[in-house]
Amino acid sequence: MPRLTRRQSLAAGASLPLATFAPTLARAEAPMLGAGLAPYRRIALGAFEVTTLLVNTMVVPDPQSIFGMNVSATAFAEASTENFLSPDESRFFFTPTVVNTGSELVLFDTGQSAEGTTAALAAAGYTPEQVDIVVLTHMHGDHIGGMQSGGAPTFANARYVTGRVEYDAWAAAGDEGFDTNVRPFADRMTFLDDGQDAASGITALAAFGHTPGHMTYRLESEGAGLLIFADLANHPVWSLAHPDWEVRFDMDKAAAAASRRAVLGMLAAERLPAIGYHMPFPALGFVDTRGDGFRWVPEAGQLMG
Ligand SMILES: [Zn+2]
Repeated sequence: MPRLTRRQSLAAGASLPLATFAPTLARAEAPMLGAGLAPYRRIALGAFEVTTLLVNTMVVPDPQSIFGMNVSATAFAEASTENFLSPDESRFFFTPTVVNTGSELVLFDTGQSAEGTTAALAAAGYTPEQVDIVVLTHMHGDHIGGMQSGGAPTFANARYVTGRVEYDAWAAAGDEGFDTNVRPFADRMTFLDDGQDAASGITALAAFGHTPGHMTYRLESEGAGLLIFADLANHPVWSLAHPDWEVRFDMDKAAAAASRRAVLGMLAAERLPAIGYHMPFPALGFVDTRGDGFRWVPEAGQLMG
């Protein structure tokens, strides 16, 4: 091939048919895909990898009947609109967390169904068989619904961990969801009290009230910490700015409010990152004080590692 001088080369380029790159008149119409979210978000926490899994999201009407049972409609509407929220409907998120400690893969809560949770796990790069420990923060249906798949354990190789007070309360109550989804695993389950470890670097901290023995879990790795606070607070505005507002799903409303104030106060004082099961996906953020309550500060890239 003969060498071209720079001048000849430019001339050759100039003579390329520009029409090759021109769009055709009939455009290829991309289909409308609907709103979307990637179903996982992974951060580094010391030597741990922490991944939040979006297993479901849905819109629920009349949020005041859930989050503001003991306040006026006016107060609820004002708190909502000043935070750009509709007082008439609310989007719910359901977000289990999976933590790879380097030696064990630990799943916190199993979602409403095995299908939703295994799909999000797969998107995040994990198989159900890789899960070594399943931790149940409490026994509500949206946390225990993925324990079984077609009558078999979803996480075939896992052992199970939950709070002793929580297990005993539901076992005594004779709840159908508990009897179906949790009781069959009792012989593979470890029961924790406040301050005990689920695994190295993963400590149970009691936050009772939402349910009788609801637990949060503190992660610690190489000096980095994070609290998985589960259902301690279920909405970033209604439950954080107004921790005393009564929540329909809190079984002991006074105890739940006291736990919210104590744990949110600790998160704010320590400036500790947190994951909330029902916080807007990716469910990861910080808690600060504001007035007589708190505010949720979504993570903004500080934890990407
Ligand atoms: Zn929940």
